[in-house]
Parts: sequence; structure tokens; C-alpha cells
Amino acid sequence: MGEFDLIDRYFKRKATGSAQVVLGVGDDCALLAPAAGQQLAISSDMLVEGRHFMPDADPSGLGHKALAVNLSDLAAMGASPLAFTLALALPPERAADPAWLEAFSSGLLALAGTHGCPLVGGDTTAGPLTLSITVLGLVPPGEALRRSGAQLGDDVWVSGTLGQARLALGALRQEWRLPPDVLHAARQRLERPTPRLALGVALRGVASSAIDVSDGLLGDLQHILQASGVGARIDAQAVLETAATGASGQGAGSIPQDRLLATTLAGGDDYELLFTAAAAQRDKVLRAAATSGTPASRIGHIEAGSALRLQRPDGSELDPRQYLGFDHFA
Ligand SMILES: [Mg+2]
Repeated sequence: MGEFDLIDRYFKRKATGSAQVVLGVGDDCALLAPAAGQQLAISSDMLVEGRHFMPDADPSGLGHKALAVNLSDLAAMGASPLAFTLALALPPERAADPAWLEAFSSGLLALAGTHGCPLVGGDTTAGPLTLSITVLGLVPPGEALRRSGAQLGDDVWVSGTLGQARLALGALRQEWRLPPDVLHAARQRLERPTPRLALGVALRGVASSAIDVSDGLLGDLQHILQASGVGARIDAQAVLETAATGASGQGAGSIPQDRLLATTLAGGDDYELLFTAAAAQRDKVLRAAATSGTPASRIGHIEAGSALRLQRPDGSELDPRQYLGFDHFA
């Protein structure tokens, strides 16, 4: 199958769900007509076989995840999806595998449909399997959630549950074992992450800064602290409790507490939102969480200085550096 047949067959869909797409896949460029007065938010993420996913990864989940990680960046800015492009390098055995292509494009386009974010262009070439997506979003001027807005005294919040993806990855890499039901739920988080788009939009005008948790809570928090020129004190127990409500909740007894703490503090691939908001905004944060159907937990607060402090329930401190090396490529 040639490049054009492949695009027509698997990736060309009528761009529905957006009057802002004037022309989608099939010409030299796509044509978009963003609503007047909106700012464009643009982000690219690349997934490479062997680096970000295993060669035997489920193709439908791979399609989902490739787009989800990009949509998560829009969520972290409080932007709404507009459209995306896909650059795809395919080895010959994949290009000649209709079942793989069908599953990949179905996973990809199903998530695109869910969020009204049509595929409007891209490129394919022969090469090692590489998925590169550029996503476009819209946000009203001045309302984008940046990393640089955290203020002294702000609360630090995180959405959903943390650490599940890293627990699953560790089990798949045979670093440890998980009970089957715990592994199943955790794998869903690793392979089919949920971009927190509705929460991101609901936090416009409420959060002072935001980032999505792709590399791990502590590492991503450092980005906010550096961009904002502040420090933070994080309650390790509050962070751990976010994990207890997730997949590991049912089987948490079988997972050593120190491992659960490490995966929760530093495990990557969760794609939750980490954000700050003034203490006076607590009710609004909880309302944003409720209206978007995404739980949010308060896990600490912003302090003067530049240090990231991690506190146990008894008030003693843990060294955050021992967790920062525990990332998903360790
Ligand atoms: Mg990000």
C-alpha cells in the first residue's frame, strides 16, 4: 500500500465536531478558522518505539496514548482542543499490517472524537516506528495556565490518582509483582491515560499555575517552582492518599508502603494536573473538580525560597532527591 492509500484508508476522516476546520487531510495544508480573539496553544510530543513503548504494545492503546499525552499538555494550559497533525514513521512490517494500522488509527481517532479534536494533516514515511503529534488548542487571551504563576502561600493541588502507571510499568518490567486486578487497573492508567481537559478549562481564572504530570510529581513540581521562583512544602501522606483511592487501593496491602510512596511521588506517565491556587480559591477549585468530574487533592503549599520540602505526618522531612532519580526511564 502506498503512502496516499494508507492515509486515505486509515487516517482520512471527515473532520467533524469543529466548524473551525475549513479544510482537513488531503491538500498541501489544512485550513483552520479559530474563533476571533482566541490565542492558539500549540504542543508537540513524540513517542519512539523502544524508548516510550515496547514493540509489542497494543496498537489501539498506542494510538490513544500518542494523542492523550498531547491533549494533556493542552489541559495543563487550560486550553480547549482545536485539531492535531500526525507525523508517522512506519517500519515496512507495520505498513503491511492492516490489523495493526486499523487498531492504531481506531484508538487514535476514538480519543480525537471524544474531545472534538480532528486529525487535519501530517506525514508518513518509512522508518523506525515513531509517532509525532502536534496538537492545537484555543484559550482566551490572558487566561492560559502557566508554570510561572505560583505565589507565596498558594495551595498545591493534584488531580486524580498518582503512581498507577509506574506501578504497572514496574510489574511489566518484572521489577515487582501486582495482584491481577490491581495490575489490570494500573495498566489502564499506563496505556490509556485520561487527559484532564475539562478540569484544565474549569481552572482558568482559578489556578495560579499548572503543569501536567508526565515525568513524575516531584520532578514536574520543580518546573513550577523554578518558573515561579518559589519553594514548596509537600505533605507525603496527602500524596500517598491519592494513590490509595486508585487502582492500588484494593490491593494496597500487597504493595510495600515505601514503593507506593516512590511510585506516587516520582512515577511518570500519570497525566494528572498539578496546579497551584490561592487559599481563597479552595471552594472554586473544588467546584472546578466537581463540574469536570475529576477529583482534586490538596497536597501542600508554596513557600518562600526555592527548596522543595517533603514532610512526613510526624513533621520530620524526607529528602526529595531520593525520589527524583526514580523516573520511568530509570
Ligand atoms: Mg507537559
